[in-house]
Amino acid sequence: MTQILSEVNLDYSDILIRPKMGINLNSRRDVNLTRVFKFKHGQTRTGLGVFNANMATVGNFVIAKKLLARGMFATLHKHYGVDEIGAFLESCRADNVSCDNLFVTIGLKNADLEIQKLKDLESKYKWGAPRNICIDAPNFYIPNALDVLARVRYEFPDSVIMAGNIASGDICLKLLDYADIIKCGIGSGSACLTRRQTGCGTPMVSLILECADIAHSVNGHICADGGIVDVGDICKAFCLNADFVMAGGMFAGTDEAAGDIIEKHFETNEIIDGARAVQTKYFKAYYGMSSEYANNKFAGGMADYKTSEGRELLIPYTGPIDKILQDITGGIASCCTYVGATSVKHLSKCATIIQVHNQLNRVFEKYSV
Ligand code: 5GP
Repeated sequence: MTQILSEVNLDYSDILIRPKMGINLNSRRDVNLTRVFKFKHGQTRTGLGVFNANMATVGNFVIAKKLLARGMFATLHKHYGVDEIGAFLESCRADNVSCDNLFVTIGLKNADLEIQKLKDLESKYKWGAPRNICIDAPNFYIPNALDVLARVRYEFPDSVIMAGNIASGDICLKLLDYADIIKCGIGSGSACLTRRQTGCGTPMVSLILECADIAHSVNGHICADGGIVDVGDICKAFCLNADFVMAGGMFAGTDEAAGDIIEKHFETNEIIDGARAVQTKYFKAYYGMSSEYANNKFAGGMADYKTSEGRELLIPYTGPIDKILQDITGGIASCCTYVGATSVKHLSKCATIIQVHNQLNRVFEKYSV
């Protein structure tokens, strides 16, 4: 019989973190944003657990280098070839940017070729340890996903492996036999159509709580992927016990995201010299990796048994990524001071989460300049 689980599942917009007395710090500067991650399969990495999404628009070299240089984590999208990645590794070495926290992405299709790509990176470009692999599939429930994950673990016993995406706790233990980090989130992404097209998905807050609880019980880690609208959502994810957070749309309007700045002109209601004044606005293209556009670009077209589960968007241009990265570190540090956490690691211990009906005051939002 079909069951309806009647407990309401919550999303980021349904909650807030309640400020409170604790070991409150006088300054955001005193907060330790760096965390040491001891992974289930033996490796250790250090940094602030924020990732760029492994999407073609934001999983590029420029953005990856920016995040790595700030002590964050980074992914590269799966469509880069060995020599391109090799050149990137060399450019990071030349610029003294550590690639210890860089994840190279592979997909499930053509697993032999993908595994060979990782081996070539090692032999040709001394990718060597520390090396990190992201095995990415929109739906990690398909049986082939576990097979590929097990193979990659067998071939790369000393790697940190992140695998996903999933949207329920039941699959976590199985994946953690081979993976170190489970990437959680289906249907939450800003360029995602999965919920509309399939009706499937789980709200992020409830998902993080469920998956973190299961993963942490066996020393696994989780990455909350998709649905980050504001830096506050990253803070919420950490408070809920996510070890890592992955964001795409947040970086997609920046100079560093793939593609040119697109200029558009709009007539306004203001009349100047008898004609409507024209306002210029700037945009960047952002598309889901399951969109028709991505299928045409990377898979030679949309297969006739599939439907597009990704949007193609023009989103407002937001300028240099540095500003956003500073907002992220500043916002997380500030959150720590509100709840009395001396480090990001302690956020989940210190935070009290409240369920709300109204999260933000939007009264003057449309007047923002
Ligand atoms: P955002 O930060 O933009 O809200 O979400 C980024 C995440 O959306 C990605 O990391 C990935 O998990 C997911 N995503 C990317 N492209 C697609 C797509 O075409 N369809 C769906 N369902 N999810 C996508």
